[in-house]
Amino acid sequence: MDTGPIVERVHAKYAGLGWIGKNTCLINQQLGSWIFLSVIVTSIPAEMFSATEAMLRPPPDRCGTCTRCLEACPTQAFTAPYQMDATRCIAYLTIEKRGTIPEGLRGGIGRHVFGCDICQDVCPWNRKAPVTSLPEFSPRPELVNPELLKLAKMTREEFRAMFRGSPIERTKYSGLRRNVAIAMGNSGDTSLVPVLEELAKDDDPVVAEHADWALKQLQHKALTSAEAP
Ligand code: SF4
Ligand code: SF4
Repeated sequence: MDTGPIVERVHAKYAGLGWIGKNTCLINQQLGSWIFLSVIVTSIPAEMFSATEAMLRPPPDRCGTCTRCLEACPTQAFTAPYQMDATRCIAYLTIEKRGTIPEGLRGGIGRHVFGCDICQDVCPWNRKAPVTSLPEFSPRPELVNPELLKLAKMTREEFRAMFRGSPIERTKYSGLRRNVAIAMGNSGDTSLVPVLEELAKDDDPVVAEHADWALKQLQHKALTSAEAP
């Protein structure tokens, strides 16, 4: 679902693969939404294909009265059921967006440093979805929950070596460190203040500004904890 010109989920719906849920993902009744959609672009004339039953009557919407995804989104990216404002989505903010992330959305990002799937995590249709055993889809152990401190101290060369061939390359060195600064600010962990003070002096102005913001969050947290009875 990462290409611009083709909205794969709409084609998938009319190919009978599932329905588009309130979280705007294609959901298959057996497989849930943790699936990849692929498209074949061909010059074969459309008349060669006859309309299938699914095209005429796509699978029914099985979201029912559920609203879990809408309520769980930390940045309130859903403007209505079936409608998402991508510019508020953590996946967009932490992966695609270059430069500054709007301050009003930073708190909602929490400790996410790359992407978010909360609206799929909470979906009941993913509860019993099968998990692939294909090794190509296994997580690389060193990339599972890496420490924020380690990510913050990573050099550009270490970033390249660690994330070569991984989707994390997309956020680039600057973007990942910006995201790490936000996650640190949201962590409530005041032991991260020294590393944030270093980041606040970073040559990259985006990283420095986000680290400065994060320091203010931790200072505020320290002050409110000290005032608590
Ligand atoms: S991926 Fe996360 S931030 Fe984006 S819409 Fe879903 S819950 Fe919201
Ligand atoms: S969480 Fe509920 S409302 Fe959202 S997509 Fe899944 S079934 Fe539909």
